[in-house]
Amino acid sequence: MTYIPVVGLEIHVQVKTKSKMFCRCSSVYFGKQPNENVCPVCMGLPGALPVPNKLAFEKAVKLALALNCQINQETKFDRKHYFYPDLPKGYQISQYDQPIGEEGFVEIEIEGDTRRIRVQRVHLEEDTGKSLHGDNDPSGPDETYLDYNKSGVPLLEIVTYPDFESVEEVIAFAKRLRQIVRYVDLSDAEMQKGQMRFELNISVKPDNLPSGELPNYKVEVKNIGSISVLEKVLTFEVQRQSELLKKGEEIKSQTRGLKGMTGETLFQRSKETADDYRYFPEPDIPPLHISDEMISELKSQMPLLPSERKQKYVDLGLEFEQADIFIEDNIRGNWFDSLLEKLEDKSLAKEYAKWIVGEISGQLEKRGESIDSSKVTPEDLIYIVRLVKENQISGTIAKDVINKIFESEEKKSAEQIIQNENLIQISDSSAVEEFVKKVISENPKLVADLSKNPNVIKALVGQVMKLSKGKVNPKIAEEELRKSLNL
Ligand code: ZN
Ligand code: MN
Repeated sequence: MTYIPVVGLEIHVQVKTKSKMFCRCSSVYFGKQPNENVCPVCMGLPGALPVPNKLAFEKAVKLALALNCQINQETKFDRKHYFYPDLPKGYQISQYDQPIGEEGFVEIEIEGDTRRIRVQRVHLEEDTGKSLHGDNDPSGPDETYLDYNKSGVPLLEIVTYPDFESVEEVIAFAKRLRQIVRYVDLSDAEMQKGQMRFELNISVKPDNLPSGELPNYKVEVKNIGSISVLEKVLTFEVQRQSELLKKGEEIKSQTRGLKGMTGETLFQRSKETADDYRYFPEPDIPPLHISDEMISELKSQMPLLPSERKQKYVDLGLEFEQADIFIEDNIRGNWFDSLLEKLEDKSLAKEYAKWIVGEISGQLEKRGESIDSSKVTPEDLIYIVRLVKENQISGTIAKDVINKIFESEEKKSAEQIIQNENLIQISDSSAVEEFVKKVISENPKLVADLSKNPNVIKALVGQVMKLSKGKVNPKIAEEELRKSLNL
């Protein structure tokens, strides 16, 4: 019996804003002293009144639109009650029955096929503070310190339906969602800074169970802060649960924690019933209305989203892998787009992509530079590729020119370098003939070997190239050699 995974995801993304969700404190907490950015609102002091952050709200609506959600034009905030030391009010302001968006979807590509993952809901809420246990403190491991800088930072929560049936699908979705979040500028989604966190609901079912039928238990794993750990946890849980079921054991619904970064999980607590958070409408914030005007304004600001952008590149003839590089790395993608805009004839798009992903990226990596601040411009690459295509320079010289652009102290264009250094290939046949004559007279041994081994012609071409410092087109050199030697 084989078992297949059934997975649903909950994702929390920190929304990029200057101030917190319900107060004017700075939402930047990275590298700050503990409790530097706090006030009565985010400390949960009695009588302090929350005021929603307009930018966070607009960004949330924009993301909900990008995830193809239906927008609840009448929306509100609710209190979600639970006690935790880093939640000073004893409740979190979140959204319950009228989230900003519902019933959306995200499309992912798995081996060339498109799959649709349904999004159940998208809502706004606030982040909690942070507990620091023992180890930072010389007085021993018995104390816990609370830092409320993160308390009240805007969070967007996205919940999917349990539509994933393989590890690959979950990972493809996580990456696509991260791209979308970045494209609409909701967040930088830097995972190592905790700006995007995953929660898994995972169970496995026999592969002969009809699709859509769910197992009678689920295992929850919280606080996964990287896509590689997410992948490891999934792989671990699928195997662990499949083995238990194969042995005929029953799996109870439970919450499990991470054991380091290995993907292994540990039992934390069983989950007999759903948590009861005693939600009720937040009395301090009036319901909010999302107008038609706001929706159309946000739609008009919507950039080309990753799947549409990928289609655009594939239609231009790029390989899937090339397209993926430009989609994932927005800076390189934007550079490529600005090059495409300068082209009248886009039939060579794939050729340009090859140079960007290959030689130029290699140079950037070597120098630790980013393409948007490097010396090479789209005009340079357009010029170089045109000369290569017209056989005016060889691929080797093209690479050399790119290297020279990077090395030039004062920015020199490809055209300047090629003209100044006289790098255009010699295609004038009388000039080529001169080189050929010289090579034939200086290499009698090679010429004699030709009758035994026709491949020796390549060596002679090599000699012509060497003599001309790479400026003769090898094809023309070979033609001239064959002509002169009556081959
Ligand atoms: Zn505050
Ligand atoms: Mn949440």
